[in-house]
Amino acid sequence: MSERYPKSVPVSPDNPAIEKDEDICANCSHCLAVCAEEIGVAQPCKVTGADDFTCIHCGQCAAACPERAIRAKSQWREAAMAVNDPQKIVIFSTAPSVRVGLGECFGGKPGDFVESYMVSALRKLGADFVLDVAFSADLTIMEEGTEFLKRFIADSHPLPQFTSCCPAWVKYIETFHPERIPCLSSTKSPISMQGALIKTYFSKEKGIDPRRIVNIAVAPCTAKKFEISREELCSAGAYLGIPGLRDNDYVLTTRELAEWIREAGIGFYDLTPSAFDSLMGEGSGAGVIFGNTGGVMEAALRMAYSVVNGIEPPDLLMQYQPVRGLEQVKESVVSLGGRDVRTAVVYGTRAAEQLIATGAVDDYDFVEVMTCPGGCIGGGGQPDNGILPVPDQLRMARIRSLYLADQERSFRNSLENQEIKHLYETFIGEPMSKMAQLLLHTSYHSRKRGI
Ligand code: SF4
Repeated sequence: MSERYPKSVPVSPDNPAIEKDEDICANCSHCLAVCAEEIGVAQPCKVTGADDFTCIHCGQCAAACPERAIRAKSQWREAAMAVNDPQKIVIFSTAPSVRVGLGECFGGKPGDFVESYMVSALRKLGADFVLDVAFSADLTIMEEGTEFLKRFIADSHPLPQFTSCCPAWVKYIETFHPERIPCLSSTKSPISMQGALIKTYFSKEKGIDPRRIVNIAVAPCTAKKFEISREELCSAGAYLGIPGLRDNDYVLTTRELAEWIREAGIGFYDLTPSAFDSLMGEGSGAGVIFGNTGGVMEAALRMAYSVVNGIEPPDLLMQYQPVRGLEQVKESVVSLGGRDVRTAVVYGTRAAEQLIATGAVDDYDFVEVMTCPGGCIGGGGQPDNGILPVPDQLRMARIRSLYLADQERSFRNSLENQEIKHLYETFIGEPMSKMAQLLLHTSYHSRKRGI
């Protein structure tokens, strides 16, 4: 590595996702190693000769730091103030991976599925409503799957289509490969859809003034803190004519939520289990597996197969092994309407970079990329049980737990979600409609230096 490189990842004070305490940093370089070797950000930065250090906010440096010198920028105290404000209606939405990580902070076994305890804990902390991001994962599949079929069948946009649920991956493309922006799906991530819909559709159905709503997403992810600050993600305000209204207000990581629960003196496993609120609280099995590497692809293939072939997906696609597991790049071919769809599932942006740099990425039609090891279940805001580096066994325990939850759901295809059907019938119309474009899709821009 060049001499002008620091020994540890520098973190700018205005980084919206992570912070660093230089007094604690032991300059062990674990953070720099993961940034260069897994995320591939340190390396391209060196190649482009940029003076400052690009960050895509994935938080893997924080996850690798034995001293806890780098950590997520905590917002749970702001969230606590919001729930204590009688003028505010505080709505929590929890991402799929949180429910297989949170229990580990309270002595649960790795991957323990604690969805109902998590919901109860949020109610105890003062939530007015607790909703499920698995709902919006299903919606993402409806929009992204439809977008893919349009590209694939009508040749309307360039292929491969890249998934866009991972904000670190999106920023990676914007920074290092802006020429590939047209490949990114315009579909918003589940959390960004959730925020926009809570302040429009949900507030309308429940008769709540959207200005009183505080949307708090709970996620395994530090990059979501960056994502919600993106300028363009204020579509509820645009739709309602309320300048300055943000779609989401705070993102708490799994670890932050655990800290808040502990500070509040709540006995996590002593709580009486409870369920999500309705209207945006129901997710299919396909929505739940979004937390795993390959989960978005499997969910999209189930939906696309049903739409194109007009029949239920076969068992093979309901447990689609070629996209599962901890191999970093996984390929498969699925026949849709007599045509082969070539897919790739990748985790680690450095692995994705290799596909792009060699041109191999153009051998595929649909590419899922998640930045973190094993997908969001290995996100920068997840607990580590005090073991660094986080072992694959821990990630596999979480992955298995989400697949088990999928198998146990009463419906496992995003198309079957009744709450999603109600949303389209009463508010959005159909996938990729004008309303969908306004609230559920977004745009990206080049962040390449010197442009
Ligand atoms: Fe966040 Fe998931 Fe992307 Fe990691 S893989 S940065 S947890 S969205």
